[in-house]
Amino acid sequence: MDIHNCVIIGSGPAGYTAAIYAARANLKPVLFTGQEPGGQLMITTDVENYPGYPDGIMGPTMMDEFKKQAERFGTDVRYELISKVELEGDVKKLWTESGEEIQAHSVVISTGASAKWLGIPSEEKLMNKGVSACAVCDGFFFKGLDVVVVGAGDTAAEEATYLAKLCPKVHMLVRRDEMRASKIMQDRVKKTENIEVHWNTETVEVLGEEEVEGVKVKNNKTNEESVIPAKAFFVAIGHKPNTQIFGDALDKDDTGYLITQADSSKTNIAGVFASGDAQDKVYRQAVTAAGTGCMAALDAERYLAEKEII
Ligand code: NDP
Repeated sequence: MDIHNCVIIGSGPAGYTAAIYAARANLKPVLFTGQEPGGQLMITTDVENYPGYPDGIMGPTMMDEFKKQAERFGTDVRYELISKVELEGDVKKLWTESGEEIQAHSVVISTGASAKWLGIPSEEKLMNKGVSACAVCDGFFFKGLDVVVVGAGDTAAEEATYLAKLCPKVHMLVRRDEMRASKIMQDRVKKTENIEVHWNTETVEVLGEEEVEGVKVKNNKTNEESVIPAKAFFVAIGHKPNTQIFGDALDKDDTGYLITQADSSKTNIAGVFASGDAQDKVYRQAVTAAGTGCMAALDAERYLAEKEII
């Protein structure tokens, strides 16, 4: 069985950037796309904050270009999911969902994170038509319009204060009578005059056919229902890093994000590097994911050189 120099798991900006660097360093990387080739950008419309695209670019188009660039230098892109790994030791073993065993001297993890959704049908129906999980990506399209944010953690607080700079009114739906967000973020929300916090409030339905027109909500203390007119519905109830397959072998924080050593992409296992949203719960941008993907490929190349594998 061939032992690949570098296997990359994941196909968002981090994975493809790692592939571009690894391929150009002649590592002949093999990249497994996973279940959602292209990652979270595939559910985004216009990306206007990625440098180099002055007119913006559609998320799926951008990921197609990342892929073409990775393939141009010889990345072997495989449309399969890695479902099991054994990363300890010099030869890393990975298994695809169809049961094929893959071996590698180094592994770059770029499995990303997935936004959590409420799971109601109207949310899915209006996805990308006003329903979004990323204010920094999509908030600009609702400049001058009233919007709703659901959630009460740091992400929701951050998204609400970000949107409050663009929108006349931001309605924040909090399902309890307190917020989980850090005190400083809560204070920021409270001090922002155009954020209205709706306590004890749950979403019943996002209203609209072709675009969001409003949100039907229910006060869970009084059971009273009402409609908030709004043009966008931002879901900010947390993200889940896609790191379950690594079990306890890799160090993670208490929410499952992989822990990397300072100023590097190194994990606790030699030869295994982590990049993108699987290890970043703070910035979570395409450009930062690409940056850490680059770091992971450079770290993998150095590791292989030190081991005299290349
Ligand atoms: P959290 O898990 O901290 O918060 C999720 C929020 O969503 C909670 O308030 C929760 O409510 C609410 N929620 C969950 N499910 C539902 C639902 N079905 N309906 C309504 N509300 C719901 O996620 P975050 O993404 O906010 O934060 C994740 C981590 O990242 C945290 O550790 C946070 O501190 C960190 N972070 C740090 C930032 C920074 O430092 N700048 C920025 C963003 C995040 P409830 O409280 O009732 O459970």
